[in-house]
Amino acid sequence: MVKLQGEGVSAGIAFGTIRFSRNSQPQAEKKILQNWQQEIDLYENARQKALAELLRLHAETTKKLGEENAQVFEIHRMMLEDPDFNDCILEKIEKEHFSAEYAVETAAEQFSLLFSSMEDEYMQGRAGDVRDISYRLLRILQGKDVIESMPAGNDGEKIILADDDFTPSETARLDTSHICALLTREGSRNSHTAIFARTMGIPAVIGLGEELDPLLEGKSCIVDGESGQVFMDPDSQTRSSLLSKQEKEKEQKQHLEAYRGRESITKDGRKIHICANIGGIRDLDLALENDAEGIGLFRSEFLYLERQAPPSEEEQFQVYRKAAEALKGKQVIIRTLDIGADKQAEYFHLPKEENPALGMRAIRLCFQRPDIFRTQLRALYRASAFGNIAIMFPMIISLEEVRQIRKITLDVQKELAAQNLPFRKETPLGIMIETPAAAIISDCLAEEVDFFSIGTNDLIQYTLAADRQNRTVSALCDPYHEAVMRLIRLTCQNAHRKGKWVGICGELASDTSLTAEFLAMGVDELSVSPAAVLSVRAAVCETGSL
Ligand code: PEP
Ligand code: MG
Repeated sequence: MVKLQGEGVSAGIAFGTIRFSRNSQPQAEKKILQNWQQEIDLYENARQKALAELLRLHAETTKKLGEENAQVFEIHRMMLEDPDFNDCILEKIEKEHFSAEYAVETAAEQFSLLFSSMEDEYMQGRAGDVRDISYRLLRILQGKDVIESMPAGNDGEKIILADDDFTPSETARLDTSHICALLTREGSRNSHTAIFARTMGIPAVIGLGEELDPLLEGKSCIVDGESGQVFMDPDSQTRSSLLSKQEKEKEQKQHLEAYRGRESITKDGRKIHICANIGGIRDLDLALENDAEGIGLFRSEFLYLERQAPPSEEEQFQVYRKAAEALKGKQVIIRTLDIGADKQAEYFHLPKEENPALGMRAIRLCFQRPDIFRTQLRALYRASAFGNIAIMFPMIISLEEVRQIRKITLDVQKELAAQNLPFRKETPLGIMIETPAAAIISDCLAEEVDFFSIGTNDLIQYTLAADRQNRTVSALCDPYHEAVMRLIRLTCQNAHRKGKWVGICGELASDTSLTAEFLAMGVDELSVSPAAVLSVRAAVCETGSL
């Protein structure tokens, strides 16, 4: 048995088999073979298998995430049928006597170079697709499983997915029905890998370093997302002690069931709203299953990732409307696009920045791209006619920004009215308090908005000048630092003085050791990962006089 120690960032015990994602991307060896006819057969066989896989993935994804998200598999299928691409591979086998694997790899390199050098943005985006197709073919040629098609293991074992780290767009693509835990070499508590794992309620351990070796691929493993311990080839004693820990966790969860359907009211009668954070409509069910009293943060940027162009007004409208309708009158706070920093979409063509967290992100980018911003606002206002939507703006630092936002929202409203499109004029507008500047001038900001939601993930990094993505300074990201607490307290006081409500939607909201303190500061709403709703409600109900 081998034991690794990392940082547990999403609690729970998982039993499964380790699979590396990006690091296991197959590579072909340069091989020249005389028996080219056999290589042609191998290639054709692999191509047919890949086509069948893509058909199945397209159907499954359409069912789970809708046609828009499934389109990529259709594009890959069409590329695999493309005569130019196929002829190029076949020629390399027939004329240059390359092995099937090497022919696929070199042809794909050639095509992806060709695509990336094209003027047209859409065609440039195809370069990544060609690489994806080549990985699929190579995996099949090398007899390896493809992550998406991996079946659950024996006796219910599932996949423990490992990598250096996962980008937000990679997490958006993960097929969670097979994945029971995440492991990373890097990462930090507030990175999106950690947030994603907590949202999905799956255990995660980060910061395992080089010991998380690709040679561990395929090993049987147990992950303890609370202690940060990972056991490879666990012995029977470890297995049984973790099984009993898993049992205890189940009992605790069972105990929390008593809070399902209850109001979140402190012992002295104060009502608090416990809402859920989601990354897209695929998390809606999780929020509802966990009895959230609303959506306190819908991170809309996930709609913009993993694609070649921004989502249209109509596509966004359908998504926001679906969320509003699913919540049946409970509030859904949708945050406008927060892209930049760690969340990148190629079509924005953002230049590489020295300090991306301090650079062109979130509301700054929206002001720079009014076309994209207005499209999103139109979709949001149109959806407001179908439920209880509120709009929230990220990364605010000044009063001028809020005034500019108000001006744009009024313009959008006028436009919709002129087109006779229904919308709710009184849609509440709120801002994230996630910079020290916003917290310090929260008295002025409170006059201009309907509510605040404190984004502690960013507030901590900006207050303590410690990058939330950078593991080497993660010890400095002390969430209990007095400076952070004072800014939260100040924000609450200023909001209430102006009669506005204030919530916390950063990860700190689910830290139940702080619940009583937050309530004493006057926090009105806590928005947490769906899996944390009941435990936070329990903490609220157990809070005595404030
Ligand atoms: C935050 O900064 O606390 C927050 C909720 O936003 P995100 O984690 O998406 O930056
Ligand atoms: Mg933030």
